[in-house]
Amino acid sequence: MADLAIDNLAKTYGTGAGTHIALQSVSFEVGAGELVAVVGPSGCGKTTLLRCVAGLVPPSAGRVRVLGEDVTGVPEGLAVVFQDYSRSLFPWMRVGRNVEFPLRTLPLTKVERRQRVQQSLAAVGLADKADRYPWQLSGGMQQRVAIARALAYQPRVLLMDEPFASVDAQTRAGLEDLTRRVRAEFGMTILFVTHDIDESVYLADRVVVLRRSPGAVLAEVEIDLPAERDQIATKSLPEFVRQRSELAQLIRQAAEPSRQTARTAVTQ
Ligand code: ADP
Ligand code: MG
Repeated sequence: MADLAIDNLAKTYGTGAGTHIALQSVSFEVGAGELVAVVGPSGCGKTTLLRCVAGLVPPSAGRVRVLGEDVTGVPEGLAVVFQDYSRSLFPWMRVGRNVEFPLRTLPLTKVERRQRVQQSLAAVGLADKADRYPWQLSGGMQQRVAIARALAYQPRVLLMDEPFASVDAQTRAGLEDLTRRVRAEFGMTILFVTHDIDESVYLADRVVVLRRSPGAVLAEVEIDLPAERDQIATKSLPEFVRQRSELAQLIRQAAEPSRQTARTAVTQ
């Protein structure tokens, strides 16, 4: 059974004249251990989708199941990494405390908590930074702390919302490789939102393309690349180049109003 099942999900913001349909009807699944990327033009509802899956906003219609359970609040066994690391870390807490913070809700001893903090900071290459404050670290390092915090929780399902959008290209490449490595190491299921086509092809086993106006799945593309990936070698493979242009075309299409919407506009 899929770890994550999204079935005819709809989300409308506001009421009356201010109503905005962010998601009309979105359905797809993510299997256990799979890494699925969601791409689509800005405003197509990617963040809304993630918030619904994380139980942070209630859907207007449809069904979301995580690990077989209907989502009614933040699901157990699920962690989220947001885009804005500067707002997601507590500036007054040292790095180690930041990573430890979500663990307080788990039935762990103090020693076990400390072990998890150490292990996850080591996994992101920050074992020696536990006593620093977030603001003493670079942007890329802060995002690694946010990832370590999610890992320490040992989630079965990890959601990531454009997590590397605000770091430089070099750091971003490192964080992409880190994501694939920890997925293998910790055996997680990952749903990764990005607007970057290269990133989606490089990272994912499958890419879901969302279209705008209103949000729905336009296409799902299986990524046919070897599991072992390398920033330079993989990106020069003909298959990578082919899938990247296929997705670029789909995203261009995804930004256009859907035919149905366009027709409505003409007849009005
Ligand atoms: P994406 O992450 O793909 O850029 P979002 O999910 O953030 O898209 O937003 C989808 C649409 O819903 C956008 O048009 C956005 O303006 C609107 N929207 C998002 N959040 C809210 C909100 N809290 N209230 C009203 N409209 C919102
Ligand atoms: Mg977004």
